[in-house]
Amino acid sequence: MDTIWADMRDGIDEGLMDRAGSIIRRGGLVAFPTETVYGLGADALDPEASGKIYQAKGRPSDNPLIVHIHRLDSLEKIARFIPKQAYLLAEAFWPGPLTMILGKSDIVPTSVTGGLDTVAIRMPDHEIALALIRSGGGYIAAPSANTSGRPSPTTAQHVKDDLDGKIDMIIDGGSVGIGVESTIIDLTEDVPMVLRPGFISVDMLRSVIGDVRMDPGLHGDDPSFRPKAPGMKYRHYAPKADLTIVEGSAEHVRAAIDRLACEAVSKGLSCGIIAADEDASSYHTGIVRCAGSRAKEITISQHLFGILREFDDLGVDVIYSESFDTPQIGAAIMNRLIKAAGHHILSV
Ligand code: AMP
Ligand code: MG
Repeated sequence: MDTIWADMRDGIDEGLMDRAGSIIRRGGLVAFPTETVYGLGADALDPEASGKIYQAKGRPSDNPLIVHIHRLDSLEKIARFIPKQAYLLAEAFWPGPLTMILGKSDIVPTSVTGGLDTVAIRMPDHEIALALIRSGGGYIAAPSANTSGRPSPTTAQHVKDDLDGKIDMIIDGGSVGIGVESTIIDLTEDVPMVLRPGFISVDMLRSVIGDVRMDPGLHGDDPSFRPKAPGMKYRHYAPKADLTIVEGSAEHVRAAIDRLACEAVSKGLSCGIIAADEDASSYHTGIVRCAGSRAKEITISQHLFGILREFDDLGVDVIYSESFDTPQIGAAIMNRLIKAAGHHILSV
């Protein structure tokens, strides 16, 4: 199929948005920007339409999708047993990068929830996403718009690289603002539990609803704890190169990466380095990419996936990355980076 390219970088084009909405209502697929990453959308209430998402992405069918809504009262149509905390969190963080897991109502097909009796719901903070949800009928199921296993897309070009010819339309809304996927909080547990870290930190959640815990399966180093979000068990974002995270004091990390990169290059390997702006000038060899500044942590989350994709395109053999344990988004950045590295961490 020919994929329509809808350029909305300078604002919403009403004609193209109508067309996008009618594609969704007729059971097609539209990729669209959100404030986190690009999503691949289909009508969430149409089991066949959401089935096409799995096909286009090559996504395992047990990995459920997030249902995107544009107004709060849509929540009551698709969720049941909604606790008070859901309304408090919606008031504090919606529209925004927070996904809530709640009991599902009967109108949500199990193909969207991977067979679970719960549903993931989010209201994105992006005018194109909100307009598309409105125009598409109010309920859009959307995971990230990448081929399964590749880093999530943070530009429309990344979506095109993965899904051109497989979906009906790509809406280009420019680069996204946050760059890592939403925080997921499960409100069906006795104590609300974070299943995936994101821009909204555990401390921010606690400041609104009190007690919140992290899914013990998130650490991934103890096989007796499986992550509760089915998607978190996969080795996402695996770059083609061998990626190692180097952690320790800033000075030791810089010295170790510089030495390891020199060794790799002297063996004839192509070596990528992921550095903070503040450290980049410490490296004397390799392909150095600045993620962003530690003083402005959102610049790091914004660029991380793009850099991993670029290193794939350049065909580098090994990548050394600094560790980015920044105060708010650090948990999300390191969760994605550690997965990309297959838990390969060097402490110096
Ligand atoms: P994506 O936005 O592409 O990363 O995919 C959505 C994420 O939400 C995946 O990690 C899913 O496993 C997770 N998810 C969606 N629905 C549920 C649910 N009902 N319970 C637990 N996790 C979910
Ligand atoms: Mg994804």
